[in-house]
Amino acid sequence: MPVNKKISFSVLCAFLTIGAVLFVHNFITPMQMLEELPYSEFKTLLAAGNVAEVTVTRTLTNQRVTGKLKSEGVSKDQKLFTAIRVEDPDLVKELNAHNVTFSGVIESTFLRDLLSWVVPALVFVGIWFFVMKRFGQGQSGFMTVGQSKAKIYAEKDTKVTFADVAGVDEAKEELREVIDFLKTPEKFTRLGGKIPKGILLVGPPGTGKTLLARAVAGEAGVTFFSISGSEFVEMFVGVGAARVRDLFEQAKVKAPCIIFIDELDAIGKARGMGPMAHEEREQTLNQLLVEMDGFDPRIGVILMAATNRPEILDPALLRAGRFDRQVLVDRADKIGRLAILHVHAKRVALGPDAGLEVIAGMTPGFSGADLANIINEATLLTVRRNKEQVGHSELQEAVERVVAGLEKKNRVLNKTERERVAHHEVGHALVALSFPGADPIQKISIIPRGIAALGYTLQLPTEDRFLMAKTELENKIAVLLGGRNAEELIFGEASTGAQNDLVRATDIAKSMVKSYGMSEKLGAVTLDRERQPLIMQIQATQEKGDYSEETAREIDCEVRRIIDEQYDRVRWLLAEKKRALVEGAKVLLEREVISGSELKAIMDNH
Ligand code: ADP
Ligand code: ZN
Repeated sequence: MPVNKKISFSVLCAFLTIGAVLFVHNFITPMQMLEELPYSEFKTLLAAGNVAEVTVTRTLTNQRVTGKLKSEGVSKDQKLFTAIRVEDPDLVKELNAHNVTFSGVIESTFLRDLLSWVVPALVFVGIWFFVMKRFGQGQSGFMTVGQSKAKIYAEKDTKVTFADVAGVDEAKEELREVIDFLKTPEKFTRLGGKIPKGILLVGPPGTGKTLLARAVAGEAGVTFFSISGSEFVEMFVGVGAARVRDLFEQAKVKAPCIIFIDELDAIGKARGMGPMAHEEREQTLNQLLVEMDGFDPRIGVILMAATNRPEILDPALLRAGRFDRQVLVDRADKIGRLAILHVHAKRVALGPDAGLEVIAGMTPGFSGADLANIINEATLLTVRRNKEQVGHSELQEAVERVVAGLEKKNRVLNKTERERVAHHEVGHALVALSFPGADPIQKISIIPRGIAALGYTLQLPTEDRFLMAKTELENKIAVLLGGRNAEELIFGEASTGAQNDLVRATDIAKSMVKSYGMSEKLGAVTLDRERQPLIMQIQATQEKGDYSEETAREIDCEVRRIIDEQYDRVRWLLAEKKRALVEGAKVLLEREVISGSELKAIMDNH
């Protein structure tokens, strides 16, 4: 439990501080060899003319004279002394009379006094927390923790405008109204506009939800409060709730403003979901609901939140008067991607041959964050190559890097492994090349990239796809099975390298049966409850829909049938092209990378 660790860590810090203070007090001071004299003795020495110089220091509680005695006899060392000064108005006169140089310092021991009080107090509080943590949770006394540690970020001016966000025009259009409202709340209510209260931005990671929320604040010129839903978890019971309260209190003071909660699903998960009902999360969620119901939007506070999993949110959050408005922030289309690339390219020196359109065309499915990453990678490559401007080759390579993780040339595969990978990849590619209308093969590589991929076949669609016919889905499955099939054909058995292909092929087959009604046996029914059909990604994590055990069995049979059919089809196809496969793999082993058209030439030759 990290909280426990944090506390014992602060206790440790407190002890170290005390140690340091004691050390300074007891060991550093005596090392200067100050001799403590009674004031009377100092006066005697002064009267005898033995004092060389004096400094009078005044602290909160007393005064001190510190000084040097004149060196006696052979000893060249001047003795240092100090004495507490008693009430003695004639001291200055006497010092003058004996020609002693003197000065005064007002030394404040405020800090020291403070430390001597505060440090033990802190230790005490620390121990108290520790004990409380052990012996019971949920004390309301913890509210101070919520306040002191809350990572609520408040930005007065986000400096982000709508011009910085591209490719999400519909979302921007919907949010314009919010900006109008925040700029002139009075006017808005007078004209009878329905006041927005909670807006949920829904979309895959990296599509610019946070950026959009900041841009709304920037456009309206209001303060932007942000906190991440995940900051609420892993805390004492009651702390999350206290933070929510805190957040709204602070925001009300700063109105008009925007409160943005990232990763809303971290707190907003449906109650009672998950392996354990999480008490802390429930309290936090309840507090959020209470605060949302309790505030009047007319004061100019707008609540925004982001999630990529709206389907797991507690339905109570989505009710009228709460997050009743949802704005979809999806991955951009080609034109949108080009616009995003332009936004990020503004900050770098772009060569005339950059060809951002081509890059936008190569990157369907990329999020804004991925595209920003491409520009970034390309800039780094440009610097590394000592070039002045980012050119097309850098951008192209950056795409590949972002697609497949960083190139790791040093990963060593043994000879048979390399042969396997080569045949596997050529298998995929040959299947793809054999179907008219399949996405063209850009290149085939056996340079390992990233952690998982030993090799890859870069097959990039020429356009964005919103619809796919049944045959196309079947072809996709076939291409995925091509790798494993090629391994079996050449080496007599499959290897573990095909696992990811199988997972993806099975997913497609399942969707065909369950979501798209593409199985004759089960008919044109959809067996999945999809609340957000636009967000493709969510499909992978769907729960089981409403159907019987029997139907479940039939689904399994149908999925198996689809996969088997494609498997047979690929087996025939590759057996026929075995010589092209062997030849292609040979070239690939030599060169590590070949292009799609080169492989096509090999295939046509055989
Ligand atoms: P999310 O909140 O949806 O996960 P972010 O807003 O945090 O995504 O996006 C991360 C970064 O990616 C942004 O700071 C920005 O640099 C870039 N980015 C994402 N989407 C866009 C977009 N639509 N236009 C421009 N840049 C974007
Ligand atoms: Zn594969």
